Amino acid sequence: MQTSARSSALWHPCTQMYQQDINPVPKIARAKGAYLYLDNGQPVLDGISSWWVNLHGHSHPAINAAITDQLEQFEQVILAGFTHSPIEQLAAQLVAVTLPPLTRCFFADSGSAAVEVALKMSLQFWHQTAGPQTVEPESGKPERNTFISLENGYHGETLGSLSVTDIPLFSSQYRPLLIQHLRAPTPDLSCKQHDQSDEEFLLQRFAQLQTLVEQHQDRVCAIIVEPLVQGAAGMKMYPPIYLTWLRQLCDAHQIHLILDEIAVGFGRTGTLFAHEQAGICPDFLCLSKGLTGGYLPMSCVMTTDKVYQAFYSPDVAKGFLHSHSFTGNPLAARAALASLAIFEQENTLQKNQQHIHQFKIKLAELASHPHVAHCRQTGMIAAFDLVQANGQPYPAVQQRGRLMAQYALQHGLLIRPIGNHVYFIPPYCITADEIDQMFAITSRAIDWAVSQSVSLAEASMPAMFNLP
Ligand SMILES: *Cc1c(COP(=O)(O)O)cnc(C)c1O
Repeated sequence: MQTSARSSALWHPCTQMYQQDINPVPKIARAKGAYLYLDNGQPVLDGISSWWVNLHGHSHPAINAAITDQLEQFEQVILAGFTHSPIEQLAAQLVAVTLPPLTRCFFADSGSAAVEVALKMSLQFWHQTAGPQTVEPESGKPERNTFISLENGYHGETLGSLSVTDIPLFSSQYRPLLIQHLRAPTPDLSCKQHDQSDEEFLLQRFAQLQTLVEQHQDRVCAIIVEPLVQGAAGMKMYPPIYLTWLRQLCDAHQIHLILDEIAVGFGRTGTLFAHEQAGICPDFLCLSKGLTGGYLPMSCVMTTDKVYQAFYSPDVAKGFLHSHSFTGNPLAARAALASLAIFEQENTLQKNQQHIHQFKIKLAELASHPHVAHCRQTGMIAAFDLVQANGQPYPAVQQRGRLMAQYALQHGLLIRPIGNHVYFIPPYCITADEIDQMFAITSRAIDWAVSQSVSLAEASMPAMFNLP
């Protein structure tokens, strides 16, 4: 395949560069609040929080000031064998805003890395922990060597995190490198049969998970899920009760529960953390994306004292010997502290309730559109599916969602549908008028996208279609 003369030195993430060379991407010159500004000055409302990371708006004065202040002191120092106030304070703050069992914070630098950390910690915990029934106290449970994840789950792109991810477009090429784990059916409510109640459907899906656990309980270290919203699969949603059952199941079989709140943490679902809605606490909580307000790469795995104690020993090899060069970066820590302070100062969660209510009204209006199906919302995340006028899904090769995104961008709105799953996950600083505008442009984008010829909707490669 020829490369285009337009190619720069840059290889973009999650992108077929061939397609990008046909449609060059816009350049962002600055960003403020809920808006990005292109180099031609055009404002673009950031309907996806710049890939789900930004919380309080771009260039927030308080976060900018915190980073600038830190920069005057020091930028990065080693965290092994040393400590510093920003990271100490951040660990203390994270413990303060989560449930009491979560007492320890292990920092890494990306969401994928946080998932790797949680998987490794869980496995090592079982290998160095003897159960009450074990005769030999030092023997541990070396037979525990696998994880259960959910169908349609997404936990990152590194080999370990990709092994528990179920997005074939991202993983199938690398199958020889990936570890085979166990997979349970998704509780995503849009998979429900029409004659089923939500409860019946969830119980059925949960029973299948339960069977899987019973078959493999001696081998399973942990179950890892995205609580309430399976993001990269297209903002697929399920209710908190499933998580409540999941916690009970894990307790009954002495299996860890890893909650990947990398996307849904920090207020996206309405509460600060999604699992609060289920009244449960995980053994491992993975945080990233919004952790720094979406400013700088940082992630954190929070865990319990029980897990921590299993690594605490005179034996070096029993420690958790995992590190990243930039672990605990002070600039990122200051951004994270400033972001947490904004939740207090701006009363963010309370204020978001109005947005959540407005989303509900606006989604209900959209729901009557003949090309809209499966309207769904969890807190500050709203989504729907684009369908044919007869209610059937579009054939996979028809990229109507991509057409919608093109139209929206030309009219000042950034959305990034995943296939025909259209979603909004805007920064919390968005105003009521901007939400109205977001839905108005979307509505026109639907009308435009569904009226285009099939050939235009099929203009590019089908594999491009499902990228988050
Ligand atoms: C984005 C995401 C990840 C991966 O985070 P990166 O920082 O992109 O490595 C993992 N899990 C979930 C649920 C995510 O949304």
